[in-house]
Parts: sequence; structure tokens; C-alpha cells
Amino acid sequence: MADIIKLLPDHVANQIAAGEVVQRPASVVKELLENAIDAGSTSIMLIIKDGGKALIQVVDNGVGMSATDARLSFERHATSKIQKAEDLFNLDTKGFRGEALASIAAIAHVELQTKPENSELGTIIKIEGSKIVSQEVGTVTKGTSLSVKNLFFNIPARRNFLKSNQVELRHITDEFHRVALAHPSIAFQFHNNGNEIFNLPVGNHRQRIVHVFGHKSNAKLVPVSEDTQVVKISGFIVKPEFARKSRGEQFFFVNNRFIKSPYLYHAVANAFEGLIKSDTHPGYFLYLDVDPASIDINIHPTKTEVKFDDEHTLYAILRSTVKHSLGQFNVVPSLDFEADQNLETPYAYKDKSAALPKVTVDAGFNPFQDSGAEQTSERTFTRERKATGNAWESLYVGLDTDLGKEKESDFSTISFESEAIASTIFDDQTESVETKTTTFQLRRKYVVTTIKSGMIVIDQSRAHQRVLYEKFLKNITIKEAVSQQLLFPLKLAVTPSDRGILDEIKESLHTIGFVFDFADQETIEITGVPLLVSESEVGMVLDQLISDYQMDISGESFSQTDILAKTLSKTLSVKTGELLDSASQLGLVNDLFACKEPKVSPFNKSVYITITENDIDKKFI
Ligand code: ADP
Ligand code: MG
Repeated sequence: MADIIKLLPDHVANQIAAGEVVQRPASVVKELLENAIDAGSTSIMLIIKDGGKALIQVVDNGVGMSATDARLSFERHATSKIQKAEDLFNLDTKGFRGEALASIAAIAHVELQTKPENSELGTIIKIEGSKIVSQEVGTVTKGTSLSVKNLFFNIPARRNFLKSNQVELRHITDEFHRVALAHPSIAFQFHNNGNEIFNLPVGNHRQRIVHVFGHKSNAKLVPVSEDTQVVKISGFIVKPEFARKSRGEQFFFVNNRFIKSPYLYHAVANAFEGLIKSDTHPGYFLYLDVDPASIDINIHPTKTEVKFDDEHTLYAILRSTVKHSLGQFNVVPSLDFEADQNLETPYAYKDKSAALPKVTVDAGFNPFQDSGAEQTSERTFTRERKATGNAWESLYVGLDTDLGKEKESDFSTISFESEAIASTIFDDQTESVETKTTTFQLRRKYVVTTIKSGMIVIDQSRAHQRVLYEKFLKNITIKEAVSQQLLFPLKLAVTPSDRGILDEIKESLHTIGFVFDFADQETIEITGVPLLVSESEVGMVLDQLISDYQMDISGESFSQTDILAKTLSKTLSVKTGELLDSASQLGLVNDLFACKEPKVSPFNKSVYITITENDIDKKFI
């Protein structure tokens, strides 16, 4: 038999390698920024067009390359960073594989301009799909500029796989954040489609964080510092009251390299335990310095994971360091009105944040007594009011009764098509369900009611989610949401990536009643909110929306409408643990069975179970 094994031609091998190194424009950004840092630059500029699909360019003022090096840099396994295998255990550079430029040049149109300090003239090389198109000598400023155009031009499948420009830009911005936060001693600029998005001057870590995330972030940071033989930890944690639903502001850097580590995350989350709500995540910017010989950064092709020699010790040190900072700076959960963005909180109430007894009024609640009107913490479901979980929310009860009435009437005018279902499931009574049905609440979790064949036990939170979900879907589809005009526009601080997301979903948000504009880079101004959302909830709802939207980006089949309706229903629904008065219980039952799909929550969970008389009889045999 003839020999059939052949060595792959270089350009094919490079294309295959590229599949591993370059997943999307953000991967190119990462490699180019890292090369610029390794070149000792003090100023780096990133230029992006159309989410990186049209152009990614990085211009640095680093050491530059000689003509020979410039040519060699595009060869596979060509690197100036390691010479022997042992070097791998003592890395102080970002790159070492010598693969990035070869890979990128295999799948894009690349132009390199570079000049070392002591040369008169520089080198300009153009490569397309691994083929050198031209190499010239020219007048070039010191340093290197690498531009990458038409990424994946020769791999249509990969190009089609790319997401919208906005989404790709978001990935690029994430990558830029990571690099910029790791290197505050380097100045960075970032231009997108001709607009300057970031201009970060040289500074310390704190200043860099503030320049990236906005001046409001300064007050949120609590310093962390610890120096042990195993690790030196510095950086900041975000005060617990600013914990967010999204995992946006979580950064670990090991030896100035951004890493992901579920294990270390756990250590930090553990230190925050009890200080933040369970559905929020701590924010942190933690810089760990360890002996390079004690880590292996080579276990992941894109190098965001690191293997530590002594993970357990690191975990323990990290956890206690964070705990120590939380304690030392006396960071206890405080009710910060500004943080909750309740800018409309009446000032008279501002200093009364300690009025906790208000929430515990139900201590005297007697389940055998008719639910009394005095129970101020009790939810009146039909008013669609909703506690955000903040103790002081109870202060609001009674403040907006008028508004409540308005909402109630609005709610009751909505008619559902499937009322027939309600009458078949509830006994053979032909009269209104309301007069005959009795309900009671079980452990502040379930609403129990009788039906023809026995009884049903309804999960109150899931039921309300279903009701709200259908309501919002309807609003969005018929584009008839009623928005309440705010007397005083509400200003909320946003990060640049939040801003990008809000920009993307602005139209849909509008259809459900959110009216807003961007006041400046860091602020949105809200002039209208959906009827069902109270002003105090706006910040929370938007935060949740952004986070859900972010999470869903990777999901293939997402529709904005569905995400919006789901998020709103999840955020605004009654929760387990909330007391419902009997009118609210009844309202919930009626609304639920007027839904098109009362059986499952928007998140595909069972809403209620039926226990038939037969089931009960069996228990008595
Ligand atoms: P690696 O970074 O793993 O060494 P790359 O393919 O990214 O591999 O780069 C190959 C080589 O090209 C580097 O080792 C470096 O010598 C040179 N190089 C790349 N980018 C720059 C730059 N911006 N400035 C100076 N030299 C560079
Ligand atoms: Mg590199």
C-alpha cells in the first residue's frame, strides 16, 4: 500500500491552530493587547470597527521589531519569550506559545508596521490568509501597529457564527477591561467606530478601576491587603450593599493576568456569606501575586485558567483576608438609599432606615383570625405592590395609596380569553368563583383552594410569575403598555457595558413602558416606567434585565421579548415568605386560571398540584 500520511502545509496547520486561538474578535484583541504589553509599551491604543469584524487595530509604543523579527513573528512557534522548556515555569510575559500572530494571519487580512527605537526606518508587512502580500521599508513611528481586517474572511462558517456587532463589542470591551485593570501603569485608549470609549491615564489600581467603571465606583471599594509567604493579595472588594445580580464586576488577577477560578470565587463568596442576598454576587478586583514557579497557566488554550500548587492554602488565605477587610472597614449591610437608587424616597424617611420593627409586625399574626387590616406588612395582591426585600420598603405602605388604586383599576380592566377554564376547574358553581371559593395560605408559600375533585395547592410565587409573564407578553406584543410619567426624571449610573446592553434593548423596553435616554456616558435618565413597576424598583429591575440579557447571549434561541417578560415576572412577582391577605389569594387564583398556561411557570416549573378526594381517601384506608 502506498504511503498516505502527509505533513499538512503550513497555512492549513495555521488555520487549524487559529480555531483554537481565535474564537471571535475579542480573542484577537486579547492576543494583540498582550503582545503590546509584553513589548514594554507605556501607551496602547485599541481601535475597533463593526464589533471587530471590519477592523481590530492595536497601536503600541513598545520595543518594536527588526525587519527579520517582523517577518518571523508570523511563523508558527516563533517567539522571543521562551527559549527552553524550563522557561515555561518562570514566565513573566503574557504570551509564550508563539502561535497568535501566525494564527491570526491565517484567517484575516493583517498589516504590521513596526520599528525598534534605534532604527531609522521601519518595516511594513501585509499578509492575507498566511500569504505575504508585501513587505516594505517605510517611515514608521517607534513601536508596533497591527491591524486585523476581515476576520474569518476565508472561513465563512466561522464568520457567520459571529454575533451582532453589539455583542462582539461587548466581548471586546470585557477583554479590554481585564487587560486595562491588570495594568494601571500603562495608558490605554479605546476607539470604537471613530468614537473614543475609554481614555485611561496611568494611575494606581484604584484610579484605574474608577476610570473604567465610573467615578461612582470609588465609594463602593473596600481595600484588601495581605502579604504571606504563599501569596500577596491586594485590590478591592465591592461593599456588600452594592452586590449585583449580574456577575459583572468580578476580577481575579494572578501575576497581572486575568484568570477565572470558580474555586477562588467560592472563597470570596464564602467570606461575603450572610452579608449579601443569596441571588446577588459579590464584586471584587483582587490581585494575587504568587511565585511563577508555583502556578501552571498552561492548562487552558486561551489561558484564563490557572493551576495552583497549593490551592487549599490559597483558598483559606483569600477567604480570611476578604473577611478581615469586611470586618475591619466595618462593612455591614447598611440600607443605602442611593445605592438602591430610590432617589424619590421622601427625605423625611431617609434617616429612618433602622425602622426594622415594621417588617416584623406579623409576629403577632394569628392564622386563625380573619386577616386583619392592621397587618401592615401584608401584601395586598390586587394592588400589585411589591416589596423588594428591603426592610424599609414597608415604609412605603400607605404612601402611595392613590397610585395603588389606579393600578388596581387598570389591572381589573384587563380581560382574558380563557375564563372558561376557570369555571370548569372550580366546582360546578356557575356564579363567580370569588363568592364561593375559599382559600388559605400555607406557610407563606402556597395558596390552597378547593376544586370540584378535591383541592389544589398553588405555589404563590410561580403562579404570580405566570400571571405577570402573560401580562407583560401581551403588553409587549400589542405594544400598548402604559407608562407612568415620572414627575422628576430618575437618574441611574450605568457602566459602559450596561449602557451597551440598554442600547440594544431600548426599543423593547420602550414597548413595555420604560422611557429613558442616555444623559451622559455614565448616566441614564428615566422619564417613564411601566405601571406595574414602582419607582423604587426601577434600579433593581433594570439590573436584573441587564444580567439576564447578558446570561442569555450565548443561548441560541433567545427573543428579547421573552427575556424581558421573564425577567419582569421573576423580579416583580410575590415571593415565598410573603404574607397574602385573603383578597390577594383569591385574586391570584382567579388571575392564574385566567392565564393561557396556568400549569407551568415561565421557567417551566409546575405552578400547582391537584390532590383529589380519591388521593385523600386512600390515605385513610
Ligand atoms: P507570543 O506572544 O506567544 O510570543 P505571538 O505570535 O503573539 O507569540 O508573537 C510572536 C512574537 O512576535 C513575539 O514573541 C514577539 O517577539 C513579537 N511581537 C508580537 N507582537 C509584538 C509587538 N506588539 N511588539 C513587539 N514585538 C511583538
Ligand atoms: Mg502573543
